[in-house]
Amino acid sequence: MTNPLLEDLALPAFDRIQPDQVLPAVDTCLARYRARVEELVAAAADAPSWETLMAPLEAEEAALERAWGPVTHLHSVADSEALREVYQQALDRITDFSSELGQHRGLFEALKRLRDSAAFAALRADQKAVIEHELRDFELSGVALEEPARTRFRDISRELAQLETAFEQAVMDATDAYVRPLKEEELLGIPESERAVLAQAAKDHELEGHALTLQFPVYNAVITYAEDRNLRFEAYRAFGTRASDQGPQAGQFDNGPRIEQIMALRHEAAQLLGYDNPAMLSLATKMAPTPDRVLGFLRDIVTRARPGAERELADLADFGREHGIDELQPWDVPFLSEKLRLARYQLSDEELKPYFPLPRVLAGLFELTESLFGVRVRERAGVPVWHGDVRYYELVDADERVVAAFYLDAYARARKRGGAWMDVCRTRFRHSDGLERPVAYLTCNFAPPVGGKAALLTHDDVTTMFHEFGHGLHHMLTEVEARGVSGISGVEWDAVELPSQFMENFCWTRVGLDRITAHVDTGAQMPDDLYQRLLATRHFHAGLFLVRQLEFGLFDFRLHLEFEPSRGARVLELLEQIRAEVSVLRPPSWHRFPMSFGHVFAGGYAAGYYSYLWAEVLSADAYAAFEAAGILDADTGLRFRREVLAVGGSRPALSSFTAFRGREPEVDALLQSYGLAA
Ligand SMILES: [Zn+2]
Repeated sequence: MTNPLLEDLALPAFDRIQPDQVLPAVDTCLARYRARVEELVAAAADAPSWETLMAPLEAEEAALERAWGPVTHLHSVADSEALREVYQQALDRITDFSSELGQHRGLFEALKRLRDSAAFAALRADQKAVIEHELRDFELSGVALEEPARTRFRDISRELAQLETAFEQAVMDATDAYVRPLKEEELLGIPESERAVLAQAAKDHELEGHALTLQFPVYNAVITYAEDRNLRFEAYRAFGTRASDQGPQAGQFDNGPRIEQIMALRHEAAQLLGYDNPAMLSLATKMAPTPDRVLGFLRDIVTRARPGAERELADLADFGREHGIDELQPWDVPFLSEKLRLARYQLSDEELKPYFPLPRVLAGLFELTESLFGVRVRERAGVPVWHGDVRYYELVDADERVVAAFYLDAYARARKRGGAWMDVCRTRFRHSDGLERPVAYLTCNFAPPVGGKAALLTHDDVTTMFHEFGHGLHHMLTEVEARGVSGISGVEWDAVELPSQFMENFCWTRVGLDRITAHVDTGAQMPDDLYQRLLATRHFHAGLFLVRQLEFGLFDFRLHLEFEPSRGARVLELLEQIRAEVSVLRPPSWHRFPMSFGHVFAGGYAAGYYSYLWAEVLSADAYAAFEAAGILDADTGLRFRREVLAVGGSRPALSSFTAFRGREPEVDALLQSYGLAA
């Protein structure tokens, strides 16, 4: 065989992969997978077992990952014209295949027989979880419904997809349609780097000079820096009324009627699947058990964060009065906040960066990993990679066993997608020939080293590194043997950020920082004054940030929970109720943020926006266990490894958390980390 994507290798042969191998490899895998499914479904007519049904399916999934995983990875980090072309074609084939598989009634029935068989009870917990997740996903795709509900559900899904796309399109059109030229004197206060953004905006619209548009970086430059209060007001009004019946583009791109249609269809779809409303449906795949728990959780934080937010606002209003703004308005808040932050802390990336040379940060991160979780990280040379900067590391257990590995691709460069992420290269699972070891890709976009010195990271970069490494640990330290719930697979998505956000905490504590800082020239650790200012920026306006998140979270969740066909979505009425309860500075009545709330009406966050805070509570509360026992306490670390990292999606995240913490999550630690604890 000459196609490396089809070889059964421990690691991808990055030195031999070529674009012309992609389509043949994907076609071969899909054809074999398809034939295998038919074979297995036929054989499962009586008494299917894990070995005769689920294990062979997991093996096909792994084969597809071996062929397709390296291709998606290369598409992200080493793209080329030739690769992009075959990538898109292969992706279409894989997408078609997975929707075909997701609608396969025969496979669904076979899995049901397996779950209802006597053999099911004897399976391991992870195997049971895989089968239950599969069945749940089949049910949520509508495949289990009888006619005419099945066809109606399919029609709704199609219509919803179109409406959600139209929603997003309207926001984009409204954003693109607005442009307002700026006079020279209106630029007062806006720094040079931000003026360049405004100049580019003008150029994009074939104008001279500078312009305000509603692209976020442009809007942000004006609302944050412009001294001209009327200009800030205009920007705020245009941005806050995008795609609505208000503001300078009133009625042109109005998403209001679309929201009504989306909500009615979501409600009907949920009821077809047997749920009271779309909020209940959303929770079927999440950690939060009931709507009451979600609402109780959000309201608890409202009660406890609001006084802090009120103090911050009063403080800001005082600061505003000193600067000639007698009555604070929403369009003054980003402007005054930025001024206040600079006046108080004067913290810049340039001051921090010399303390964070990448080699030192990595060495500290690896030391922490060893003391907390009992695994050593060691580099291994000679592994095929896609670029000379890429490093390969192994995780070695106390008994010198290699348990997992990861690639680190740290620096920004051409033909590499921006941002940072953890992706799966190999998933751990037990197969007929033994055990596959987990391997991860950690990708960042740090500024590369210059002048022969080590690369220097910003504090933001450092927390990003820790965040992605946390996802990596979740993937790599899994001990699960059933593929579908191994590592991060099958973990509820309001809990999947627990290990990643947990790791970030070490970048904010003295003990953690002492391990990862050494001045690039002197080797000195971060002075205390600098550390205190860094910490203060974490807490700065945390209350105002939280009440905003709470307003979004409550609005999204109650909208989906309380929808009734007879009275419609009541978007504005509901928003007013929530603002009365949550907001410390009420936006004007003409403000229309829901009409551009793409997360919820066009993205995957319907009745799920609360997840951001939910996951943060889990990570803060888990970290508090370390603070109580000693940040580097090995017993607590090993318990975290065993109860959270090792178990993946093999049991509910709430059970894992409770097993680690000895109780259910509490919000105190979150408020503490924001500096808002009473
Ligand atoms: Zn993350």
